[in-house]
This record gives sequence, structure tokens and C-alpha cells, in this order.
Amino acid sequence: MPLPAPDTDRHVNPLLPGRQAARLLAAAVLVLAALATGCSPDPADADLRDRPGSISSARTPAAPGPDHAGPQDDSSTLDLVASSHTDPASPWVVVNKPNPLDPSGFEPELTTVRGYLVQPVLVDDLTALLAAAADDDVHLTLRSAYRSYDYQAEVYDGWVRQLGHERADQVSAHPGHSEHQTGLALDLGSSSRPECDFEACFADTTEGRWVAAHASDFGFLLRYTEQNTAVTGFAPEGWHVRYVGRELAAYMRNHEITTLEEVFDVPGGTDYP
Ligand SMILES: [Zn+2]
Repeated sequence: MPLPAPDTDRHVNPLLPGRQAARLLAAAVLVLAALATGCSPDPADADLRDRPGSISSARTPAAPGPDHAGPQDDSSTLDLVASSHTDPASPWVVVNKPNPLDPSGFEPELTTVRGYLVQPVLVDDLTALLAAAADDDVHLTLRSAYRSYDYQAEVYDGWVRQLGHERADQVSAHPGHSEHQTGLALDLGSSSRPECDFEACFADTTEGRWVAAHASDFGFLLRYTEQNTAVTGFAPEGWHVRYVGRELAAYMRNHEITTLEEVFDVPGGTDYP
């Protein structure tokens, strides 16, 4: 199935300085050229389908969800230097093709949720998200979380062998450039249509629609969308969420900014250094 072409006009935030807008337009052109090469294969995470399944655990009581928390009126302003976007341990760190983790072999503090390794900072919000979804009779699964530098190298190399460098770069990050190495990124799955896990059709599942509508209420961004492909440098992944905390997620929602690159004015796009 061909990928929808990115709507490049929507990538240019009117608030962006001209230099950044020009950079994003250039990135959009590159992505359009890359997409013209053919159908998108399974995404970067697809080779993780055979990973161990989730470990069931007692569900904690539901935390206030988006329907119960009331409006977030304080989300229009935020100190955007309150946390670093370059420190690999920061929940605001920007990791993309131009910006590797520094050091590239960074290893975060980790704990487990349903058998998957994640940073402790996101456990409460992830638990609340999963419980709120369940309250709505939406049963999300976890499919992937932390990946080490070495494991990401294996993942990427596998895609290169299968697709070649050009197409592998559309769907898989080089080691040191993956959000999964931060322990802040998760790939969610569908219990109603598990055949859509790591596939474009996840976005159309009950679970995918719930995630798109509610993830930001719990501090998670839907990181790679059809609309922001030129900025992020990756094909859309409706299952990949990135924890940034509730304050930043609310700020971005309030300002209709969908990428960390734009909120912190950090280069994105498809070019590695
Ligand atoms: Zn992912």
C-alpha cells in the first residue's frame, strides 16, 4: 500500500523562524523523494513480533483519565529549558537522525512494566494510561520498549539486509539514534486486531484510535505521524509513543505542535551527520 504523501505545507509552523522552515521544507522534499521509491515495508519494529509476550500483572486502580481530570488550563505556557533536550537521561531529550544520543551507548535507568523495560519516570503515567484505556474497554498490549545500542544495531542491520540502506533508513534508526534506547519509547499493540501490530492498520484499530486521542493526556506523544514525516524523518508509526511528561504533552497539544523537533527548534529530517 503506498504511503500517503506528506502534506508538506502543514510541516511549516508559522511560528518557526525562516531558517527552520526552509530546513523542514528541504527535509520534506527528501522524504517525498524517498517515498517515491515504493511501498513502505513493515516498520522498524516489525522484527520484534517474536519477542516474548507481555507478563500479566495485577492492574492498579485507574488514575484520573482524560475524561475525569478536567481541563488543563495551565498548558499554554511552559519553561522549555526546565529540562534538557540534549541530556540522554532527560524526558525531553530529542533523538532523531541528525541528533544521536550522547554518549551514543547511553544506558538509562530501567524498570519493568508488564515485562518490558522502561524508565521509572514513566511508570505511573503508563500504568494510568493502560488502566484508563481498559476502563473504556480498550485493551492495549505492550510490544516493545527499551532497546540497547547493540540490539538496535542488529535491528537496523537486519533491515538493511532485507531492504537496502535507502529504504531501511525510512523505517529503522541507526544505533544511537533510536528513541527506544532512551527507555522512554514504547510500541503498543492491539488486542482486538493483533495482526495490525507494527502495521499501518494499527492506527485504524480501536486501540490505535484510543491512543491517538488520549496518549497526550498521560504524557505520551504519538511521535511519528503522516503529517510530521518530513520533520521526524520516519514513516508514520501509529503504535510508537514517546514519553515526555504530562506538562510538555499538554503544552504541545495546546499549541498544536506534534514534534519535539519543532517545540525545541532542533534539526530533524532524514539526514544523518
Ligand atoms: Zn517504536
